[in-house]
Amino acid sequence: MMRPRIAVVGSLNMDLVIRSPHIPRPGETIIGSDFQTIPGGKGANQAVAAARLGAQVSMMGRLGRDSFADTLLENLASSGVDAAYVHKDTEAATGVALIVVDERGENSIVVASGANMQLSEADVDAAESMIASADVLVLQLEVPLPAIFRSAEIAHQHGVAVVLNPAPARELPAELYELVDVLIPNETETALLTGQQSDSSERLSAATHQFLERGVGAVVITLGKQGALLTNQEYDGRKFEAFQINAVDTTAAGDAFVAGLAVSLGTGHPLLEAIQWGNAAGALAAMRFGAQTSAPTREEVEKLISGVNPDKIIEKVL
Ligand code: ADP
Repeated sequence: MMRPRIAVVGSLNMDLVIRSPHIPRPGETIIGSDFQTIPGGKGANQAVAAARLGAQVSMMGRLGRDSFADTLLENLASSGVDAAYVHKDTEAATGVALIVVDERGENSIVVASGANMQLSEADVDAAESMIASADVLVLQLEVPLPAIFRSAEIAHQHGVAVVLNPAPARELPAELYELVDVLIPNETETALLTGQQSDSSERLSAATHQFLERGVGAVVITLGKQGALLTNQEYDGRKFEAFQINAVDTTAAGDAFVAGLAVSLGTGHPLLEAIQWGNAAGALAAMRFGAQTSAPTREEVEKLISGVNPDKIIEKVL
């Protein structure tokens, strides 16, 4: 099997997670427990997930010059992600996310993007060969738009497929949509980017048509346990049912979906098959706790797609 080459331009964060009896109110101090530092950031999560699925992955991004940066680099290396284009900023700190999780599993998160926000067009230009030699470029919205736009432009010029996961959602320049081959928003992001609530199939359909009019090649909306919905020139709202599984933690299901779709596309599969890969990777990730640690392997995805009972695939919960 050919190993696809995936380039990821995006964020790296250290997640600082504390369990707490409840989410603190303003001015309140609570004694929590189980403090953990966990590598995160949508860019790094998707890069690691793609590597687990067997792709050759190169990541570009920015860290600070601190101990979190060293830990995040070690994490990429041990996941097999090439970090030659992950630079250490001389001034900004490594991005961190402060996460409080309460007893019911509700969370509250504050992100200090730090060095992620220093990723520049010049950085991207210096990495032109990394993008040009990829089969698929994967982007999210946790780094500055000029860097995202320039990356998409270079990929487009070199015939590299551009996959954009518009998360967290923010308004995007019209020219960016035209460079996107596959846009992968969830329902919340779809609503934010189109102003259409995704509470009825008519409104979802209106939203997907807005995306197509803006120039994307295809839009694949992830619908959680409902699976995913494809619209492009050929298919108008084609539904892909999710795999039936017992979800325990859907934290990085979206990241696994994006990685699965990108790796499959990069392997040369048609989009319909790539969406199945996304659904399978997302479902497997939702069966295990964690973000990067819950990402499935290629073998697990292939088993699920070939009809093996998912409970037989997930033997150990990480
Ligand atoms: P996000 O986490 O970004 O909001 P979704 O919740 O839409 O993304 O989930 C992404 C994908 O993960 C879904 O399209 C689906 O393929 C898979 N997935 C998520 N939750 C489940 C579930 N409960 N059962 C099966 N698949 C799921």
